[in-house]
Order: sequence, then C-alpha cells, then structure tokens
Amino acid sequence: MPRAMTTLVEHAGTAGLRLAELPLPFPVGPVNAWIFVDGPVTVVDPGMFSSNSTDRLEAALAEAGLTIGSVDQIVVTHAHPDHFGAAAWLSDKADAPIVCGAPEAAKLLSFGPEHVEERSAHDMALLASVGVPNELQDTFTMMRSMVADQVRPVASSMLAPMADGEDLQIGGRTFVAHVTPGHSSGHLSLHSGGTLISGDHLLAHITPNPFIEAADTPLGRRRSLVEYLDSLARFEALDPDLVLPGHGPAFRDVPQLAGTLRAHHDKRAGEILRLIAEHPGSTIHELAQAYFSGLESYHVVLGISEIAGHIDLLENRGEVVSRGAPQRFTATR
Ligand SMILES: [Zn+2]
Repeated sequence: MPRAMTTLVEHAGTAGLRLAELPLPFPVGPVNAWIFVDGPVTVVDPGMFSSNSTDRLEAALAEAGLTIGSVDQIVVTHAHPDHFGAAAWLSDKADAPIVCGAPEAAKLLSFGPEHVEERSAHDMALLASVGVPNELQDTFTMMRSMVADQVRPVASSMLAPMADGEDLQIGGRTFVAHVTPGHSSGHLSLHSGGTLISGDHLLAHITPNPFIEAADTPLGRRRSLVEYLDSLARFEALDPDLVLPGHGPAFRDVPQLAGTLRAHHDKRAGEILRLIAEHPGSTIHELAQAYFSGLESYHVVLGISEIAGHIDLLENRGEVVSRGAPQRFTATR
C-alpha cells in the first residue's frame, strides 16, 4: 500500500486546501470534501444531503473564513450519491455550477423523481442479463431508496460538463481534466503540478468496486473493471506527488498502488476462473452467490459487480467463454 501522509490537514493548510470529512450512511466511512480556499473557491464532492453532513461542510467553510455564498463552483468526481447528494443544494444556495465529467451528466440528472421508472426498467434488464432471479430484482431499487432522501435532484441548468483534457481553474491553479471510464463511465479526476484529485479512481486503502452499470452495448453493460485497469495505466504514467482521494487519507506512489491493485485483481480473477471450472455453465449471479455465499439486499449488486468485472478480464484473456441469455460461463481449459 502507498505510504499515507501523516495528516491531511498538514497539506491542506499549506496549499489553500481544506478537508471536510463528511459522514455517510455506509460502511465505507466518510467521504472527503476538498475545499480550495483561493478563487475560484471550489468544493470537490460535497457529500450527501443530510443535516449532519451539510452542517459539517458549512463549518469547514467557516473555519477557512468562507461561507456557502463564497463557493464559486462545485466539482463532482462521479455520479454516486455519496459524492454528489448535496451538490444541487449547494449549487442552488451558492448560485454556483456543478462541474462533472461529460458522461456523468445524464446519470446525475437521472436521479430526479421523473426518471424513477425509466431507471428501474434499465436496472431490471441489467439484473436479468446476469441471471439475478425475479425475487431479488428489487435490489437496485432498495439501494436507491436507502439514499433517496439524501440526494437532491440535479437540474441540467446547474451542470458544467467537462471533456477529457480540458482545463479548469481551481483555487488559483489550472487543473487538467482526466475523464476516464472505470469506477463510473465518466469519472472526473483533476491534475495540476503533481497534485491529483482522484475521486474514487484511486484510494489508498480501499479497492474501488468495479460497479456494474447498464450501457448501450451488445452486453447491456460496461466492462467496468477492464476499463478501470486501462485508465489506471494513465495515472501510473502521470505519477503524481500527492493524491487527494474521495475516501481515506491522501497518499503518493501511484505506481506502487497500481501494482498492488493489478495483483489483487489477477488473484481474484484466478479464484473466479477456478470457481467457473468447478461450476461450468453458471451465471454471474450464481457465481456471486457461490463466491460470497448468502448475499442479500444491496450486497447482491456489489457481489455481481465484483464477479462481472473479473469475468470480463477472463473473457478478454480468452480464459472463459459465454453463451445464452442470461450469459453462462465455461472455462476454456
Ligand atoms: Zn465513493
């Protein structure tokens, strides 16, 4: 694992940068809201819309001599509720745009109540395609309803989508956007002079889940982990001096982290290959149940995300083949 910085605040104080660790209703721990104090005053990932989180954010702004009204822009690294739940609230109060990776814009908008039916139809189709039985297909809906009251709907007028390679002024510096698929389809990282804001693409102590996501492809979903590992190579080459992640401590040594992540995924892919050899013709759901045993509720989604990600790696390498709908997998040797 990369060497964690002694304290984050140490860096924060020196670079016009503050950290607000905002509480989440998930076991992952808090989400990091990075506040750039110099103009344009920027909040990266304002957390979820709950009073204990937004109060904490306001307190952190106050400690930096700022108010909500001082915020010039909000950056959302990706369209997961723990990162953007309060973005629309902040955008509205501060009259500030929400910057995001262009492919995330539609997803941010789709959390609105008018899109609920369309979303659940997509989710059902995705779950059916990986063999999740009917009685478990409300798992996505369950996951969303758990957080629905902590996500404020985003309006398209608030959004400022960015393309890969574009510049953004943050805290008196010019950052370059890295819009990379992986953890989500249009995850936005930002790089300036050796500092990388990495969202959930790079985390010191957590392996980002290759979250399953419906897409307009023959497969009906993205190959999240294959995309993730491709994008990882870019950050490895960038080799920033300091990474400011979406959760957990700041760190350095991205090449070492990348090596650890690749080894982790290779090992897990090998385990899943053995499982497929033992249970030929299984669906992704059956393999998830066999690998993790007794998955319930939203863990069903996390489990199938893990398995689908690693099966995509194995298929890419020609080590498994699939047939049928839902897809059933067999090892090639
Ligand atoms: Zn996250």
